[in-house]
Amino acid sequence: MSDQNKIVRFAPSPTGHLHIGGSRTALFNYLFAKKEEGKFVLRIEDTDKERSTDEMTKEIIEGLDWLGLKSDDIPWMQSKYIDTHVELANKLLSENKAYRCFCSQEETEARRVKDGKVQFFMYDRYCLKLSPKEIEERLKNNDPFVLRFKIPEGETKFKDRIHKEIKSNNREIDDFVLLRSDGTPTYQLSVVSDDVSMNITDVIRGDDHISNTFKQILLFLALGKKPPRFSHLPLIMGADKKKLSKRHGETSILEFRKNGYLPEALVTYLSHLSWSPNDHKKIYSLKELINDFNFSAISKNSPIFDYDKLNFLNSKAIKEKDPVKIIEILFNDSEFKAKYESRGSEKLLSLIELVKPRMKKVHDFIHQFDIYLSEELIYDDAEFKKLNTESGNMINLIEGLRAGFETITDFTEENLEKLLRGYAEKKGIKAGEIIHPLRFALTNTTVSPSIFEILIFLGKEKVLARISGFVDFLK
Ligand code: GLU
Repeated sequence: MSDQNKIVRFAPSPTGHLHIGGSRTALFNYLFAKKEEGKFVLRIEDTDKERSTDEMTKEIIEGLDWLGLKSDDIPWMQSKYIDTHVELANKLLSENKAYRCFCSQEETEARRVKDGKVQFFMYDRYCLKLSPKEIEERLKNNDPFVLRFKIPEGETKFKDRIHKEIKSNNREIDDFVLLRSDGTPTYQLSVVSDDVSMNITDVIRGDDHISNTFKQILLFLALGKKPPRFSHLPLIMGADKKKLSKRHGETSILEFRKNGYLPEALVTYLSHLSWSPNDHKKIYSLKELINDFNFSAISKNSPIFDYDKLNFLNSKAIKEKDPVKIIEILFNDSEFKAKYESRGSEKLLSLIELVKPRMKKVHDFIHQFDIYLSEELIYDDAEFKKLNTESGNMINLIEGLRAGFETITDFTEENLEKLLRGYAEKKGIKAGEIIHPLRFALTNTTVSPSIFEILIFLGKEKVLARISGFVDFLK
């Protein structure tokens, strides 16, 4: 039993889109918090005023909402707490744990490279050696300065939940800047200050932050605070083993939504990246993932983002999705809604059921609506070629079949099957030889659901009209 309720944060900077990597970080934070019956909080790190935008903040929140990763508190806006960050820095200064550095970049650079030889890699602590008198004079002179953290001697180590023990000799850590010369706090300071204020118990973030973690742990200790427990998730790669980027396909979460993915497919797939639920082929709800989730089973190896696997899960999620919900998503497009709403929900729901098994993306339905609900079908030569049958005899065959349909009053599967099989037998052909052109006549495609389901869905009147249209096309 832990002695403290777990509180984690997902802390994106609103300087760019919410990507796959960030979403996976958010998901793992969320799953960890929920599993521990703790709290998951969104923190927007918006202190970089030049690069942060309100639109990005909105987009990040919208993306997380879409995935179902709701923050347990209202988002913590980092820029509101700048005064606290600065206060902490000044406290460190007063305790001699930080010092003013008056060196300009040029001055440091001039000492760093002498006669073409690099003398040191990190800041050389020139200003740490200034006497109180010198400092006083430079302050009087209004010389600009930054505040640097004085890295103590020794070694810093932490037990990462994923990478196990990681350590660094403090000699390898730079006296990093806490406050810039304009008095604004840096990333390291703001993160630690907020983590302290928010009582964060566990930090779960990408591998790329490991070097920051040493600095941040030293800051926590200097402030007399217990550092949170850290976990670093491995970077996600594309199929070419390079860092996942635009080149590989969609990367922003809202782009996936726009391109017809369902959030349950994406969430399930994100959970496969460095960890894996019991059943690889199942669509998991967040609740089921929480149940299955086992943080200690997360691998430290970089996972590959595999679009094929995601696509497989997406078509599965579509099959399992309530048709009412699918229509809701499709009707977010007002033009589409205006076009089809009047058809009545019963018709639309049965169409969704009819074509659902073949759909890979949500917007694949749009084309199907056009096929099955439009008044007139425009036949496509290229598509027709795929039929690969000679059209010579086809006109006769299909016209004969049309006459047969005319005699049926009730379009049931039984009646239709009897007619089709009987007709093929009478003509001395295989049923397929008439079903393929019929399918094309009714849908302008060579692949579709069962022919009987299509006939029933379209109904007698439309079936007859489409066959006539097809005959015109053949002629
Ligand atoms: N704002 C940082 C980023 O977007 C994350 C900070 C953290 O998780 O500590 O990379």
